[in-house]
This record gives sequence, structure tokens and C-alpha cells, in this order.
Amino acid sequence: MQLLSLTIDPAAIQTQLDELAEFSATPAPGVTRILWSDEDIQARSYIRRLCYASGLTIREDAIGNLFARWHGSDPTLPAVATGSHIDAIPNAGRYDGTVGVLGGLAAIQALQRTGFQPRRSIELLLFTSEEPTRFGIGCLGSRVLAGTLTPAQLIKLHDKAGSSFEELRTAAGLAHRDLNDVQLAMGHYAAFVELHIEQGPLLERAACPLALCSISPHRVACVSN
Ligand SMILES: [Zn+2]
Repeated sequence: MQLLSLTIDPAAIQTQLDELAEFSATPAPGVTRILWSDEDIQARSYIRRLCYASGLTIREDAIGNLFARWHGSDPTLPAVATGSHIDAIPNAGRYDGTVGVLGGLAAIQALQRTGFQPRRSIELLLFTSEEPTRFGIGCLGSRVLAGTLTPAQLIKLHDKAGSSFEELRTAAGLAHRDLNDVQLAMGHYAAFVELHIEQGPLLERAACPLALCSISPHRVACVSN
């Protein structure tokens, strides 16, 4: 096993989190960034620029899920993925989701700085519409990726202003992409890990700064240091 000495720059990550928080429909400290609003489109461009600067290859699917890939030496192997979301409910905190996106990018950059070359590709994901604000469905992007929300169901969706999913997708510049191409095949990724802030009181009550949670089997382990 190759041991790497990884370093990150917390101040640089904080600067990026603060810059990303500027793309908001409401004044600081809260962040409001609704799917496909001007702020969301600008924030997506900001993330794209950072990914391009790190030499990642970007793909965007028909619903705006973004995939920024660091190509491994064996591109036939399923990739290892990380990521989260940047959409934000009205007056959300600036760290919700964004830590998982910018933190994932920071992890890739830390690996790149060591000269490490991964065998599996490593992919940063930005999930479309993790928040239910616009269409009333949480985790919309990842549901479609997993095949639990279908294109037929998508095109029936409307936002509260009466605009259809297709109208809004078209306005976001995605109409030429096929909704049937969004779902990923089983086994598409070798592994996925998401860094996310706690949104409940349990870790705070336990004075635990960091925990690891596995989904299957469901387990939570506190990491004290
Ligand atoms: Zn979140």
C-alpha cells in the first residue's frame, strides 16, 4: 500500500466556501440558492472553473448533475466518487452541501499535489436539486441517477409558479440532452463517500466533532480525534 502525506489549506477552503456563499438570492449570513435560479447557475459556473483549473474533465447530464473526473490510469475500472449539492433552501447555512463539493475537490487537489496517480478514476459529483424547494422532491438528481425517479415522472413536475420541469430545464440550457441517459448502471461507481455537516443535535450533544456513517449496513461511528 502506498502511504501519502496529504496537506490541505483550511483558509483556502474557507475562502471558496465564502465565495460560493456570495451566490445567494438573500443577504448573508443565510444562503438562498434555488435550482436553476440565476444564483444556482452562477454558483455552478464557479464550481466548474475550480474543477477546470484542477484539470478535471466535466460532464453534465440532462438534468444538470455535474461530474468532474480525474482520470485514473485504468479507465476501464469503475470510479471512486465523492460530492454533494450546492442548491440551498431559503436562508440556509453556507456549509450545507457545499462542504461535500468543495471538500471533495480539496481532497482531489491534495492527492494531485503529492504526484499520486490513481488507478481508478476519481469523480466529484454535484447533485442537482438535493433540496425539495423547487419541485417538492428531495434528492431529485440522485434519484434519477439511481433510477428511482423516471423521465416519465420528471416531465410531469411543475414548480410553484407553474413552470414545468421541461420549461425550466430548457431555460437552463439542458433541453438537447436525453433524460433517458441520466440513470447510471448498477456498479457504475466502485465506492461513494460524502462529506456533510450534521443537521441534527446528536453529535453536538455527544461532543463528537466527526462521525462516519455507512448506509449498508447502517452504522454510525464517532471519531473523537
Ligand atoms: Zn445537504
